[in-house]
Amino acid sequence: MMDAENTGKSPVFEAKSITMDFKVSRRGICKKRTTLRALTDLSFAVYPGESVAVVGESGSGKSTLCRLAMRFYVPTAGHMDYCGKNIHRLDRQHLKAFRQKAQMIFQDPFSSLNPLHTVGYHLMRPLQLYQRDLTRENMRDRIDEILELVGLTPVRDTYDKFPHQLSGGQKQRAFLGKVLATGADIIFADEPTSMLDVSIRLGILNLMGRMKTELGKSFLYITHDIATARYFSDRIIVLYNGHMVEWGDVEDVIQSPRHPYTRLLISAAPDPERRPDQEMAYTKGVERTSWTPESRGCPFVPFCGIATPDCESNLMPPRKVEDGHFVRCNNFDSGGSTPVGAHKV
Ligand code: ADP
Ligand code: MG
Repeated sequence: MMDAENTGKSPVFEAKSITMDFKVSRRGICKKRTTLRALTDLSFAVYPGESVAVVGESGSGKSTLCRLAMRFYVPTAGHMDYCGKNIHRLDRQHLKAFRQKAQMIFQDPFSSLNPLHTVGYHLMRPLQLYQRDLTRENMRDRIDEILELVGLTPVRDTYDKFPHQLSGGQKQRAFLGKVLATGADIIFADEPTSMLDVSIRLGILNLMGRMKTELGKSFLYITHDIATARYFSDRIIVLYNGHMVEWGDVEDVIQSPRHPYTRLLISAAPDPERRPDQEMAYTKGVERTSWTPESRGCPFVPFCGIATPDCESNLMPPRKVEDGHFVRCNNFDSGGSTPVGAHKV
């Protein structure tokens, strides 16, 4: 598969050494405030027309990453760029463009549409806002075209429907239509199918796939499910406790995983019924430690079968497995891998 870095295109979105801390108060007699490190030194890029999956279990920092990308939070360290510009330092004009071009798809389709407005209205508003030159008639044609594309047919029936008259899958389709009407070019999708019935997930993934290949949209696809990541994405980042532990071309990573955690994720039998908030069995009752700015070493050490004393004190620098495929683990059998400085996805 194509290595996006070699195409000569510039990234549409980039995360550069992102670290994110939260101040949390511990429950108990003395309410001590501590710092939780949700993300540690994340760097990656998303290129036009590709999907980069971020895979990790519950609590690994996926939603935090998505919210950072949408400017809901300011990172503790590092920055994120949209089309080469730091999203927190945009002037008025570029901020307006960012608000239009970067859109998020939420896990819960039931709360992402306004219950008081029809599907037609949800699609018309962004067109009114961002495509002011459209005439009334052209706007109706454009809405019909989008409804057709997202598979909400017959179009005439859907136009006047309210969200409560749609199924979960149809709601997510309507929301994707709204994202298209807005004119987004990068879409941050936070577990967009995990609340939907298994039987309709594939349809939504296929629709997102068409948005990518036919319309050139880019996706940061957040999921706890490595199977859908493989189905929908070109490249993959495996996140463990806020750390990028392995990343690269999706087939390379899935066919020859190097990090023990990636191997575990792949070997765990795909269970579509497992809820995203359920612990994976590997922890066997051992509590996963929360990461703090003082924590050292590799976060997977407590559960790792191949950890050495070095792993407890040092986080391994990214090592190149093959072109575009990197891992933060020293103990994999790569046959002469070399440490690398820049760790771009
Ligand atoms: P995921 O989406 O992968 O389940 P999250 O990004 O929601 O993970 O959470 C990552 C970690 O950061 C968790 O330990 C969570 O408790 C913590 N966290 C997330 N948001 C906040 C917040 N606003 N305040 C404090 N802690 C947070
Ligand atoms: Mg989440």
